[in-house]
Amino acid sequence: MYAHVYIKIGVTKLDRPFTYSIPAELEGKVVPGCEVRVPFGARKLRGFVVSVDDQSDIDDSQTKDIISAKPFDAKSDGALFALAGFVHERYGGTFGQALSTVFPSMAGETKNKDRKLKNPFEKLSLPTERPEIELNEEQQRVVDTFFADYDAGERRVYMLKGVTGSGKTLCYIRMIEKVIEQGQQAIVLIPEIALTLQNIMRFYRFFGERVSAINSRMTPAMRRDQFERARRGDISVMIGPRSALFTPFKNLGLIIVDEEHETSYNSEHPPKYHAVDVAVERGKINGASVVLGSATPSVNSYYHAMNGDYTLLTLDKRAKDAALPKVTVVDMREELRNGNRSMLSDTLFHAIKDRLSRHEQVMLFINRRGVAGTVSCRECGQVIKCSHCDVPMSLHRDGFLYCHYCGERIVFRRECPSCHSKLIGTMRAGTEKIENEIIRNFPGVRVLRMDADTTKGPDGFRPILLAFNAHEADVLIGTQMIVKGHDFPGVTLMGVLAADLSLNVPDYTAAERTYDLLLQACGRSGRGENAGEAIIQTYQPENYAIRAAAAGDYKAFYDEETSFRSLMDYPPFGHMLSVLITSREEDKCIEMGKYVKAVMKQADDKLFVAGPTVSAISKIKDEYRYELLVKDSTIERLVKARKAADRAVLDSNAPKGADIWYDFT
Ligand code: ADP
Ligand code: ZN
Ligand code: ZN
Repeated sequence: MYAHVYIKIGVTKLDRPFTYSIPAELEGKVVPGCEVRVPFGARKLRGFVVSVDDQSDIDDSQTKDIISAKPFDAKSDGALFALAGFVHERYGGTFGQALSTVFPSMAGETKNKDRKLKNPFEKLSLPTERPEIELNEEQQRVVDTFFADYDAGERRVYMLKGVTGSGKTLCYIRMIEKVIEQGQQAIVLIPEIALTLQNIMRFYRFFGERVSAINSRMTPAMRRDQFERARRGDISVMIGPRSALFTPFKNLGLIIVDEEHETSYNSEHPPKYHAVDVAVERGKINGASVVLGSATPSVNSYYHAMNGDYTLLTLDKRAKDAALPKVTVVDMREELRNGNRSMLSDTLFHAIKDRLSRHEQVMLFINRRGVAGTVSCRECGQVIKCSHCDVPMSLHRDGFLYCHYCGERIVFRRECPSCHSKLIGTMRAGTEKIENEIIRNFPGVRVLRMDADTTKGPDGFRPILLAFNAHEADVLIGTQMIVKGHDFPGVTLMGVLAADLSLNVPDYTAAERTYDLLLQACGRSGRGENAGEAIIQTYQPENYAIRAAAAGDYKAFYDEETSFRSLMDYPPFGHMLSVLITSREEDKCIEMGKYVKAVMKQADDKLFVAGPTVSAISKIKDEYRYELLVKDSTIERLVKARKAADRAVLDSNAPKGADIWYDFT
């Protein structure tokens, strides 16, 4: 018998299986998906068995024996191996990258196999008294639906849409309890920024030692130990960021993805997988239920829920009686007309003054998401968009405006096409500038600023948050990092400056991201005893994302957004694959771009392929960046095109000297 073994050597050219013979004593133990040790040149390396065969295409004298095989468990190792296949097939990259994503332990060896594994909570002596909380009526209904399906052996994907503070976590906990009772295990994904000890504690109180957690600040050895504890059955619940999805539980019953709309669930390294899709796939492979929770579901997931692909569960009320803040939208065009050219509107100025006089706290959020370069008019709010794609164009240094969706290029003229004002240009809003403005306007005010400049290192933001929480400052100014998850009871005013910036990003998801950011930002205000208020400053007060966020009306937003997307064939109605091409030489980018485009068109002449165009960020660390955008109504055809391109770039007459990165959007 022979085995085709994939060995991780990190060389793209060798990204293929090698043939080994199976010695008699290992027959039956060497199965597809099982980890083995094999001789490779002078070294002994670890690999994965891709397939087993009774014939070899290689001369017997050339094949070497497999040295040893790890015990194989079909439900954990087998399921994860199938998942690696899905990740490779869908997102591209090398098979090696897919394998080391799904089996991070492959990167290093656990030495002493029987030692005592480390527990991250060991030294913390956390309380484990189980809080007795009764579910309210809404929560009970959600949990009952899940229980009924689970007991009937139905495994589904659920979309749990619950307003902030509605008690989604408590529902998750009840579902996990149920699954554990039946001898199964659960994975809980939480976005990295929300993976605080305080959040993990909420689960620890219920499940104690049966819970473990991983995060990116842990050492690889510590993370490996937690996976090993799961494999041994020492724990039943794993909490972590997207990589926790690959926990080798033997009998996985439930995967929860909290804040499923968060973009941090999309990997930024190849394979650029989307954790929500991979979670759904793992659910299918393992026969596990999947719960996607959010107050602001991604348009994609909600579309599936509307479609009936996912089961919709809703929580419309806050569990405690806290009221949502009062939200005001301020039209900055009006301010300009009234002669106010500063960053603070009259309304916001007076609101800040009022809060300071009452010794309450204020947060100011400067929306700086996305790339610079979009051009808008301060007088009428008009944004220059591509006439074919309805996304903002961006101004490049060559003086032209570009569309990254279709490659359209037009000359930039400093005059608004709709109102002819000269006050048109790229918008900038700096945290430092607003800090100076606040200090000048409110003498004696204590200000903290949180942005990339003031927070070096992974824990750099902590002292700032602690100081603000202890009321050592009156105003906290920051970028998106102050918006999500924080709970400062003293804050009664949230001011959003330049709400438009995230709206004007040249990306079809701009409105979705803006809705989410604004809703979360408003939610920071009035969490304590005093009622809260939020003020949103914008040049486009009529925009539907801004209006819906101010009203907290997700359905209104979703309806407008989906009608726009279906009109433009954007996801979920059509699919897109962006191909990034990087090289130290600009010519090579273009050459490779044209080559890949030709290959894709040849593979499928119905595909729409735009480009190669310069990327929004045209150069990073001396590497030029170009991109192609491929569109089609089905994802399968895009995957096919990507595979054709994958093969073609390895061809001997393919252009050299440029790298390719794929990203499904
Ligand atoms: P979400 O995750 O939906 O934003 P949380 O799970 O954080 O909401 O719950 C918000 C707050 O309400 C928490 O302090 C939680 O302990 C409390 N809570 C949730 N459900 C109940 C309940 N049934 N009875 C009392 N308090 C509850
Ligand atoms: Zn104008
Ligand atoms: Zn266009």
